[in-house]
Amino acid sequence: MELKHKSGFVSLVGRPNVGKSTLLNHMIGEKVSIVSDKIQTTRHRIHGILSEEDAQIIFVDTPGVHKPKHELGDAMVNVSIQSLRDVDLVLFIINAEEGFGKGDQFIINKLKEINTPVFLVINKIDLVHPDDLLPLITLYTEKMVFSEVVPVSALNGNNVETLQSLIKSYLPEGPKYYHPDDKTDRSTQFRISELIREKVLFYTEEEIPHSVNVLVESIEEKEHIVHIHALIITERPSQKGILIGKRGSMLKQIGKEARMELEDYFDKKVNLQLWVKVVKDWRNRRSLLAQYGFDLE
Ligand code: GDP
Ligand code: MG
Repeated sequence: MELKHKSGFVSLVGRPNVGKSTLLNHMIGEKVSIVSDKIQTTRHRIHGILSEEDAQIIFVDTPGVHKPKHELGDAMVNVSIQSLRDVDLVLFIINAEEGFGKGDQFIINKLKEINTPVFLVINKIDLVHPDDLLPLITLYTEKMVFSEVVPVSALNGNNVETLQSLIKSYLPEGPKYYHPDDKTDRSTQFRISELIREKVLFYTEEEIPHSVNVLVESIEEKEHIVHIHALIITERPSQKGILIGKRGSMLKQIGKEARMELEDYFDKKVNLQLWVKVVKDWRNRRSLLAQYGFDLE
């Protein structure tokens, strides 16, 4: 009997920090979306592609849903709500450790406006006692009907395979939309800038993580080494000072960690040159946001 090929698009939605990017990376087996404990890390829509012999699942990772404060915030909310339309399945991801919140109600209201099947995915079950899951499931399923309810741990992979086969069973027959070797629709340039931004997020606090954008200016790949020039853009001179650190120590640390991950990615030596530049109020300048690759509509 001939194997039927299934394929489709699956949106990941949920409040910031519930583990959408971690789950995506675990399923793809590669870091296609950066992870951090700071909220609003994911700024762009990213496709993560999982190809198997008989199926291709295209995951759509979206920025968290939140109240917009900047033009950049507006763009992020647009991306998330837009992504709920025209997909085959939605994974509504919640954090097992946190209770029901206003953000969840906001998302549920949006989910009720679409006809797509929705799974309730309860993530971070490694942090709670199994007895706590049932009341949580009751709470959410009273608010909305879910096609499936799946508890997982994106961090250690617990039950993620079950989730994957359930997802497959909901997909229609269809072609491979991407080459089976592709893990993401994003360019190398985008992935490099995101890896650098991940390190900035790790080492900085308060408003700095949100004030930073990374632009890769050049990538020059030679036989044994890759030369990369990148700019870390921030909004104020004081933030630039913090990012550079005492005698350049902060920038050195960020550069070193980014370089090590980039060497894994390219499987080559990497020479990473990082510069910090102030671009006043970039998050509120629509023309700059468009230039930086944000989807404004
Ligand atoms: P997103 O904002 O929804 O994309 O969340 P991230 O994937 O960036 O994860 C937010 C934080 O939660 C990070 O510090 C992750 O390491 C952590 N995290 C994600 N999944 C799990 C999990 O299953 N268990 C635990 N303990 N932590 C997790
Ligand atoms: Mg994310």
